[in-house]
Amino acid sequence: MKRIIVVTLAVAVALVACVWIVLRFESVDIALYRRLATSAATAPIPQLAQKNELAVLLCGSGSPLPDRNRAAACSVIAAGEDLYVVDAGGGSVRNLLDWRMPLDKVAGVFITHFHSDHIADLGELRLQTWVAGRKTPLKVYGPPGIEQVVAGFNQAYALDTGYRTAHHGAAMLPPDAVPLVAVVVPMDASGRMQLLAVNGLTVTAIKVKHDPATPAYGYRFDYQGRSITLSGDTAPSDNLAKWAKGSDILVHEGLAPELVAMLRDGLLIAGRTRYAKIMHDIPGYHTSPVDAARIANKANAKLLLFSHVIPPLPNSVAVRAFLHGVSDVRPDGVMVGEDGTWIRLPAKSDAIEIGKIE
Ligand SMILES: [Zn+2]
Ligand SMILES: [Zn+2]
Repeated sequence: MKRIIVVTLAVAVALVACVWIVLRFESVDIALYRRLATSAATAPIPQLAQKNELAVLLCGSGSPLPDRNRAAACSVIAAGEDLYVVDAGGGSVRNLLDWRMPLDKVAGVFITHFHSDHIADLGELRLQTWVAGRKTPLKVYGPPGIEQVVAGFNQAYALDTGYRTAHHGAAMLPPDAVPLVAVVVPMDASGRMQLLAVNGLTVTAIKVKHDPATPAYGYRFDYQGRSITLSGDTAPSDNLAKWAKGSDILVHEGLAPELVAMLRDGLLIAGRTRYAKIMHDIPGYHTSPVDAARIANKANAKLLLFSHVIPPLPNSVAVRAFLHGVSDVRPDGVMVGEDGTWIRLPAKSDAIEIGKIE
């Protein structure tokens, strides 16, 4: 009995001591937050591609239609250690930061066309690559008109970047490194234009159809015998199929006209005629999933990866509805991408490795 009393007293004293120590030095919520902060800050930085690998990551798989699960248009191409960003739609840079992508490795940006859902985060990309340690101005390639867009973002962010250099010091945030530099990519009659060859990577612009947003480009990336072509926004384009020939991956936009028509009808019932008109207008300059499958077949692409999906697809039933009829045209090699979907193509191999950053 005496022994039980002694043990109970010892445990009680230990508990009181523990509580005293916690309260004396740190409250429970603060201690827990410290653990959370440490684990977040020390989480590993993802490497999208290893040496000699080509990879794509969807940093925005949505469109201008609001979708909580999808940022607007954005893809990252990794060729070994170098990263390239294709389009910078709204919310996409937040995704990249969330995923701890090493933004100092961004070596260039390619803009397909100047609809707002492809450029809204250019200012944030300018800022965040600089904060991450980018040492030189960042080239932004695009169709004629890119000069105007880039000049606008440089001007709009000039005050912000001034404040940040003043606050953190020019050694950390050198003002001469921050600007975006526009590189106009001309197009010739062939409908394609090689615009970059660096460290074994070649990048080719491909003319697509997105009138009145014209000219509009897709981009093809070739590296170590593997290739990825991105459609940008386009109506069905034979020119894209022609120059995407043999791509391992064709990342293609998709608009399901039957689903968009249902949205239009619902909006008409609700009397929201302005938005109903938009639903009526947009199918004309996009590509249906079935037509995208035909183009992937023509291009002999191994995998068709849908991105820039319209309308929003909130669940697996909606994804099935989006793909309705696609399997009749292309039974295999089709995937609907999500924010965080990545695909890696090792050199000297036919392998296609697929994963997702959550
Ligand atoms: Zn567009
Ligand atoms: Zn778009």
